[in-house]
Amino acid sequence: MGGHAGGVETARPGRVKTAVGKRYARVALEGGLKKRLVYAIPDHLQPELDQGHKVAVPLGKSNRRAWGYIIEFVDSPDYDRSKIKEIISGPPNKLQIPDQLMRLAHWVSDYYCTPIGTVLMTMLPAAVRKPQATHKFVKFVRRKATLAQVRKACAGLRTRAPKQAQVLEAMLKKHGAVAMSELCNETSTNAAAVQALEKKGLLTIDKKQQHRDFFKEDVFIKVDPKKLNPEQQQVFDRLCAVVDDNKFHVDLLHGITGSGKTEIYLQLIAHARKKGKSAIVLVPEIALTPQTIEHFRSRFDEKIAVLHSRLSAGERHDEWHRILSGEAAIVIGPRSAVFAPVKQQLGVIVVDEEHDGSYKQQELMPLYNARDVAVVRAKFQNALALLGSATPSMESYHNSLGNKYALSVLPGRVFARPLPEVKIIDMRREQSQNNSYVIVSQPLLDAVETRIKTGEQAILFLNRRGYATFAICTDCGEVIKCDHCSISMKYHRAEGLLKCHLCGDTRRLNPVCGKCGNPNVKYRGVGTQQIENLLNRILPDARVLRMDFDTTRKKHSHGKMLNEFRRGKANILLGTQMIAKGLDFPNVTLVGILNADVSLNLQDFRAAEHTFQIVTQVAGRAGRGEVPGEVFIQTYNPEHPAIIAASQQDYLKFFNQEYVFRSELSYPPLTHLVKILIQGEQAVDVGESADLAAGQLRQNLPSTVELLGPVEAPVARIKGRHRYHIFLKSQNIRGLLKHVKDTMKDLKCKASIRITIDVDPISLL
Ligand code: ADP
Ligand code: ZN
Repeated sequence: MGGHAGGVETARPGRVKTAVGKRYARVALEGGLKKRLVYAIPDHLQPELDQGHKVAVPLGKSNRRAWGYIIEFVDSPDYDRSKIKEIISGPPNKLQIPDQLMRLAHWVSDYYCTPIGTVLMTMLPAAVRKPQATHKFVKFVRRKATLAQVRKACAGLRTRAPKQAQVLEAMLKKHGAVAMSELCNETSTNAAAVQALEKKGLLTIDKKQQHRDFFKEDVFIKVDPKKLNPEQQQVFDRLCAVVDDNKFHVDLLHGITGSGKTEIYLQLIAHARKKGKSAIVLVPEIALTPQTIEHFRSRFDEKIAVLHSRLSAGERHDEWHRILSGEAAIVIGPRSAVFAPVKQQLGVIVVDEEHDGSYKQQELMPLYNARDVAVVRAKFQNALALLGSATPSMESYHNSLGNKYALSVLPGRVFARPLPEVKIIDMRREQSQNNSYVIVSQPLLDAVETRIKTGEQAILFLNRRGYATFAICTDCGEVIKCDHCSISMKYHRAEGLLKCHLCGDTRRLNPVCGKCGNPNVKYRGVGTQQIENLLNRILPDARVLRMDFDTTRKKHSHGKMLNEFRRGKANILLGTQMIAKGLDFPNVTLVGILNADVSLNLQDFRAAEHTFQIVTQVAGRAGRGEVPGEVFIQTYNPEHPAIIAASQQDYLKFFNQEYVFRSELSYPPLTHLVKILIQGEQAVDVGESADLAAGQLRQNLPSTVELLGPVEAPVARIKGRHRYHIFLKSQNIRGLLKHVKDTMKDLKCKASIRITIDVDPISLL
């Protein structure tokens, strides 16, 4: 097929027989063109093409080949038919977007003001769009001899071959096969020891082709459902009835940390599966640890698909197809898993830690919030959306007080375990008593020492990575900033570099100030690396594990570190927000929050909410086992209401006071916000375009909409681009969106200017 115009008017006999309405198709292009172009369907493709199919089409004067998806069939397009080009070819690998997702894509496109082709690109993993396949093999070890024989051999080998004895000992505890790598890891041995045991006829080693499966090497011991306590049971029964009802329903499950929400998810999913339905579980990216996955894998016999951001392209491809074919009916993953193409009727979508900011896509269009998309998907598919959190977002809790969502509450921890005792440490006082800058206060240090002496473990939280947070000239006060972004550079001591955490630019530290020329540039502010050094100095016997963006870049490092900590190989886990979510370590009895104020100082109306959430969540990591926990909150704002409410783990107190503040300023959840971000390399152009956009938006502005701006964004420059924004506020989101779309469509700006519409933004920086 040449892909040129024409050829459609000379109807040949074959055309008459084909179904009406399959002669033309509207195609959404992957590149994200706003227009959905109409193409003619050549005869030979008519029988096979369907809605949602991926097709190749000619584009532009040169008829270059582009990819797109059939959005709908058209009977008689209102264009000059002689100019309509033909579809070049049908779907590679029969790739088709299921109907349910097509409908969702239309909604996302409409609500988040994004061309549908771009939405479809987000829905389909790149690896699915461009498949590439190779196979992989792994070794598995199983017991061959009987338990008694192994036990006997183990005793016999203990002195002669202790490594082999160790392996046998581990194998005595295993049911079925274990991956060789896992076994060696666990017993600190190598394959030679295992092979020796195979020769002795005690173990067998199998080689198996591996589905590309990130967590395949972990073999999970089956864990039976726990007997629910009365509070859990009540919630569970109600939710089961909802699932059986095949009706749309949203439930906000508000349960304090350690109240057993996960157990409810697990049993509810089991119930849905019994009825032949599928389930999707969304978790925040950083909470998708082996521990979370283990919870699910060790409960269900069937295949569970895990969509993890660290999957390789091949793994991602395999998982997606396993879901599409119905082989996996339970899906767990971060944000993008909300688009999982489950085959069985959707029973429930769980959104765990629904308040979490990582559900909102930042930067890449569509700027969707997976929590909200989950609710819409549940609506389209008559399913239950279950939003769970110990610290629900203002939006969701607000909805649960109106009649949009139902509210379920788990008021206490399982086994009535007490919440940890919380102490607020006033860092201003610590400072003045010591006459110097204090990073870890004496009471916290004492507590850490006491706890680790008794073999308990501590978690220390600081939401700043790097060594120091900035470098400043102590003579003239000049702070070293990134050349491309208007933020200070952070000092990373291990590499001896200053780094920009926004664009990644690095630079050697120069002690000579670029402004005044004096050699007095010093570091100030504290990051995780510095705390690690400090702890190693003050507590030489304690082993510290530092977990942050810098130490977890390798594929499995995140899970490995958590496992090490679980096995007691370190006394202190020091980390950024990475350690705030979902971790359940019974031996952790002490939590220290080193600087509870970091996010309080941001210029964001959600600052108090973020602070409350993070402090409550981190504090909730303590005392999950039998020994009661203790929490220290270090702060320079000990009387701040968000800090006090968090120290009391009192959500309602926080919600009520915050609600008053939000209503006074008519911020969400009382209104919807839309942010229009204008970016470009020339400051003047950006300012002019922002004025132009605001001016046009002000014309015919509906009386229900309030417009703020334009102003320079708090972070005025990122990656060399200047940034301005405009905010629109309204209780009527539909009216607001219509006005924005109508106006922005006709806006004429310089080609170098980029305009992004962010609906329900969460970052105001
Ligand atoms: P949440 O998700 O609310 O923080 P989890 O579901 O992780 O709480 O539960 C905390 C701990 O209590 C987990 O170790 C879990 O296995 C255990 N647990 C939950 N429900 C029960 C129950 N009904 N009986 C016994 N243990 C439970
Ligand atoms: Zn930068």
